[in-house]
Amino acid sequence: MLNPRQPHRGRMKKGIDPSLWVSLKPFGIGEEHPNNFAEISRALRENRDQAGFAWRILSQGVCDGCALGVAGLKDWTMDGPHLCNIRLRLLRLNTMPALDPALLTNVAALRKMRGAELRELGRLPYPMVRRRGDAGFHRIGWEEALTLVAGRIAAAGPGRAGFYLTSRGTPNETYYAAQKAVRAMGGNQIDNAARICHAPSSVALKSMLGVGATTCSYGDWIGTDLLVFVGANPANNQPVTTKYMYYAKRAGTRMVLVNTYREPGMERYWIPSVPESALFGTKLADDTFLINTGGDAAFLNGALKHILERNLLDHDFVAKHTTGLDEVRTAVADLAWQTLEEQAGGSEAEMRAFGQMVGEAKTAVFVWSMGATQHIFGEDNVRAIINLGLTRGFVGRDRCGLMPIRGHSGVQGGAEMGAYATAFPGGLPINPENAAALGDAWGFPVSAQVGRTAPEMIDAAHAGELDVLFSTGGNFLEALPDPPYVDAALGRVPLRVHQDIVLSSQMLVEPAETVVLLPATTRYEVPGGVTQTSTERRIMFGPEIDGRRIGEARPEWEVYLDLARRVRPELRDRLTVAGTQALREEIAKVVPMYDGIQTLRQTGDEVQYGGPHLCAGWNFPTADGKAHFIPVPLPAVEVPAGMFAVATRRGKQFNTMVQAERDAITGAGRDAVLMNPEDAAALGLRDGDPITLRNETGAFAGRVFLAPVKSRNLQVHWPEGNVLLAHGRRSPASDVPDYNAFVQVEPDRPAGTAAEAAD
Ligand code: SF4
Repeated sequence: MLNPRQPHRGRMKKGIDPSLWVSLKPFGIGEEHPNNFAEISRALRENRDQAGFAWRILSQGVCDGCALGVAGLKDWTMDGPHLCNIRLRLLRLNTMPALDPALLTNVAALRKMRGAELRELGRLPYPMVRRRGDAGFHRIGWEEALTLVAGRIAAAGPGRAGFYLTSRGTPNETYYAAQKAVRAMGGNQIDNAARICHAPSSVALKSMLGVGATTCSYGDWIGTDLLVFVGANPANNQPVTTKYMYYAKRAGTRMVLVNTYREPGMERYWIPSVPESALFGTKLADDTFLINTGGDAAFLNGALKHILERNLLDHDFVAKHTTGLDEVRTAVADLAWQTLEEQAGGSEAEMRAFGQMVGEAKTAVFVWSMGATQHIFGEDNVRAIINLGLTRGFVGRDRCGLMPIRGHSGVQGGAEMGAYATAFPGGLPINPENAAALGDAWGFPVSAQVGRTAPEMIDAAHAGELDVLFSTGGNFLEALPDPPYVDAALGRVPLRVHQDIVLSSQMLVEPAETVVLLPATTRYEVPGGVTQTSTERRIMFGPEIDGRRIGEARPEWEVYLDLARRVRPELRDRLTVAGTQALREEIAKVVPMYDGIQTLRQTGDEVQYGGPHLCAGWNFPTADGKAHFIPVPLPAVEVPAGMFAVATRRGKQFNTMVQAERDAITGAGRDAVLMNPEDAAALGLRDGDPITLRNETGAFAGRVFLAPVKSRNLQVHWPEGNVLLAHGRRSPASDVPDYNAFVQVEPDRPAGTAAEAAD
């Protein structure tokens, strides 16, 4: 009998399937892949002083890693345990003791430390302050700290104060309280990490389908005819998805990758909690189409051109439920195959083959991530994916969907709670009508002026136009392009406030006047518990968990409202909230799609807003009730002669937190420059040779790492590769930075040895 909560289970074959095995070598001995059993043993070692607390976090908490979503060790897609090495590596951040505040009295030594070393010093226990000329920080009380910060915010006025929240571990309640507090203090100058990953997805989905999030659930992957990943590497970034992929394969799904690099983890994986896969591995991708960095729109347009030429549309769906196909048909007909091939980096035959797969599928799910979005034309890449999905009505029904997969636990909720410079709670546009309605709900006026996005805050800081920068978690210095520019910008802000659980490099930038550190609790320490929203729109409850508590750390939501009450004492009553349950009750009223959040009480409690499918029954919440095809022009991507396109990628890391020097999936070190073997040979380079990538922004010293990357394309790790990225290159519609660049490759070896190396 089918489980009504997991209807896809009935699609999977029983028993084992040797045709999917990678090899007969047990546990993939000798193959490059993560050793998850070693990760468990490492986590046991690291957390042995707090073993009980660590176990309670794993068994009762909602994971603070990626946005796949799990409560305790169970998810809503599959039976069996849900746990991965990202979560295990993050665990120590939640159980570690406080650092010794004396370490901060002189930051000179700290500035030489890497991010991992700073984190390992321990949790921030007390508010601390450093003034210009001080060698380091000294302890102050909360009262003094908040009086100082509130006074400066009040003096600055809303236009000269900026607020930013990270996505790591940040729950819905914090985002909601923060944006309400910032809006009470005046203006909409608040942004969060969702800006720099999936803002283009929200823009494109909203304009074409009327929704701003994934239309489907993970369960739709299993048994769909076609599962397509564009610019996404969930095997690394959301490791438990490999289990969903395994079950999809067992249910007969064809898995296809469109990417610049043949990601090894997406082609085969050893899934530790599936005995057959743990022993012999599982072949995942059936087809990989290698394309140029920035070639997505061309490749997808080529596939669309084939579908239109061969008349593979679902005519009934298109006629009844969409508009705009005629314009798209005209635009695509005008695109010459030669132009598409040059831009895409794929051949006409490959584009036609992919188009044929899409055209023949009865069901399909398209999943994409930052390989598609983090370009100045990120919205167009997403629009091209949606156009393809609409050709056959792959939305709003079982085993179909359009899914921007999120990398970090907070990002889905961050935007939906309104911690956004460009949107109110619920993703509503910032305009006078919505501002007035929000003002009525809260009992104070709300500005109808769009605020500065996170990159714009840094620009303002650089220009000397920001007096206060309040950052909850995150690390601008490592997350954004062009670190010297960001460093200079941070150093010009008179008051910087860093609210966090551990030290980060941005805290150590010399103060223009004052830097304040505020110690935060983790999500597991918040009285009353908190919620998080997963990629599949599931709002999950995580309770407060008994265990170690750190000094004077306070929940972030509480501090935001405390600050706002100090800045606007006349609003004291309206900015006083009893606790997180009261916040959830308010969220349910202000963000109606989150109704149900107020009923969540214990681990496993959840509500999936919108249900398993948005646009179910092909009802689109657009003005005309239809889905909209939109023509996608080809972006102007032309790699200058003699140069390469370089993209940044994740290795063994979470967010900017590098967790290992070597990526166990690819085998690449942090200084690796992934390069096509033929390109390397043409330059006389061998695996491991030192090289420098250089452009007008900066230089990156690395080593050749031969890999199946599309020719004339390179990949380097982020954030190290940020030195090559121009700070001003951002998409005009959503202000997402472009995490790609053009570079020259300079061999770092004495002249005259190239010929020998090439022999
Ligand atoms: S896949 Fe994501 S949600 Fe699941 S355990 Fe790993 S980090 Fe947590």
